[in-house]
Amino acid sequence: MCGIVAYIGNKQAYPIIINGLRRLEYRGYDSAGVALHNREDGNMHVYKRKGKVQELVDFVKKKPIESTIGIGHTRWATHGKPDNINAHPHLSGSGRLAIIHNGIIENYDSIKKALIGEGHSFTSQTDTEVLIHLIEAIQERDNLNLEEAVRVALSQVVGAYAIVIMDKENPNQLIAARKASPLVIGIGDGEFFIASDATPIVEYTQKVVYLNDEEIAVVNRDGDLTLKTIANELKTPFVQQLEMNIEELEKGDYEYFMLKEIFEQPTSITSAMAGRINAGEGWIKVGGLMSTYDKIAAAKRFIIAACGTSWHAGLIGEYLFEELARIPVEVEYASEMRYRNPIIGTDDVIIALSQSGETADTMAALEMAKKKGATLYGIVNSVGSSIARITDAGSYIHAGPEIGVASTKAFTGQVTVLALMAINLGYERGRIPRSYYLQLISELERIPEKVQTILEKNDQIKFIAGEIKDISNALYLGRGYNFPVALEGALKLKEISYIHAEGYPAAEMKHGPIALIDENMPVIIIANNKSAHEKIVSNIQEVKARKGQVIAIVTEGDTVISEIADYVIEIPETDEPLSPLLSVIPLQLLSYHIALMRGCNVDQPRNLAKSVTVE
Ligand code: GLU
Repeated sequence: MCGIVAYIGNKQAYPIIINGLRRLEYRGYDSAGVALHNREDGNMHVYKRKGKVQELVDFVKKKPIESTIGIGHTRWATHGKPDNINAHPHLSGSGRLAIIHNGIIENYDSIKKALIGEGHSFTSQTDTEVLIHLIEAIQERDNLNLEEAVRVALSQVVGAYAIVIMDKENPNQLIAARKASPLVIGIGDGEFFIASDATPIVEYTQKVVYLNDEEIAVVNRDGDLTLKTIANELKTPFVQQLEMNIEELEKGDYEYFMLKEIFEQPTSITSAMAGRINAGEGWIKVGGLMSTYDKIAAAKRFIIAACGTSWHAGLIGEYLFEELARIPVEVEYASEMRYRNPIIGTDDVIIALSQSGETADTMAALEMAKKKGATLYGIVNSVGSSIARITDAGSYIHAGPEIGVASTKAFTGQVTVLALMAINLGYERGRIPRSYYLQLISELERIPEKVQTILEKNDQIKFIAGEIKDISNALYLGRGYNFPVALEGALKLKEISYIHAEGYPAAEMKHGPIALIDENMPVIIIANNKSAHEKIVSNIQEVKARKGQVIAIVTEGDTVISEIADYVIEIPETDEPLSPLLSVIPLQLLSYHIALMRGCNVDQPRNLAKSVTVE
């Protein structure tokens, strides 16, 4: 959360920073701001505006923006309400230093009180302003240069940060540092780009250095980059080549990223499988699994740790691993797992699911499990991210950048990788016969074309969305593999349309939620399971008997449910363990259209941000 961008070089900094902030807006859009240094008047110009980057751009029109150095921020507020004052950049007491920050300084309050005791006064409510005051106070008190003062200050703070600092008196240098929040430095020709992820950088250079925790980088206009730890140990920067292309970051012909990403799923699911499956030759090979096979095959238990949509993918993983590979699985909310001292040992494998690979709670859960000696496996989308680096092995989902805040293609990518792993392990461990193994492989290979046929029902789904768009509540029901899909469908609706929705196992309905059903309560039932079909039909009858409105996701040709449900969306038949990859698609589209019809910004829903790098 929070996007940060900085530039130093020969070009004009402002357009590069604004362009970068637009790319990072998925990380937060409470406010945006920039600090620029004008060579002619020697002043630092700070412009900040509540709201989206566009508000800032409108505000800055006709203001001086000439500068070849600058820092910019798009905020997801943690400390202090979203307004012009709390917007970043924040200034030090003298106004000489400016900072942008992603993260939380947890001990800001005690530092703030001490600084107030020394005569400091603060204009904002943020933890960030406290940090820049502290840095300047240390600099003045101990007569240190800025880099030294940053090091001393960071050794005193508790919490998470990715920061960039600019000094009005030294406009030839930027200082950046990170701990638990991501930061990437792009190395151009006599210029540097610094950002929360590589998306603002890729159009200028492919050469990047990912900062590690507790590292400080000093970049100079003369092209010099120095990397040190907070403990003042010199490090050699590890320069990597970016593998990302600019088209992936554009909306193309789509109105919203979310729609583009929903429609990309035939391709993104194919990418998740590429090189890992071959139906013609009858094999699945998951590279990360092979490199840790002994530990994984000997594992007593898998613990899947995740948050949000990834947690729902994790639940499907539990069904897959237990049914196909007969490995016991627990699925944990990473935010709970990290604080509850769970029993974890050396024969446990922790599988972390995260689109960004930077989710703070998931990262913390992994750190805790690592200390307890467990094997760590990451399933992430962002190449080179923190989770990808801390884990012993892993599999990228290769979905390409996901920019819509509500996750869609990352979810199906995660489920695809989990299915590949479970089928692979199930066969290797002798838990599924070769015939079923081959059947699942060929079925998995056909999933992208089946997803395509569901996408072609977009108009029908839009029509249903129009019929129910004015609801204030919705219930999602599913059984077995499709129970987590019900949770995911409800979450999608909540996230982007602000309609209250709940997901439930279909059979649990009678233990409570059935009390909510009346003619105003649409019930979305995922009813494509082959097993328990009659049971689902009974659940639908129970809803209808109470005048509930039923929208059912059914397998093509299901005449039984078609007769009783108010609306049916037919999806192709597939093997049950793979069915979530199909049944989730209409739910994504349904939420998208309902949200759009209600005038919501589907890519940037209120209060949310992608890549949750704070607790
Ligand atoms: N804590 C800072 C603020 O509230 C940064 C927030 C963040 O990175 O999400 O302004």
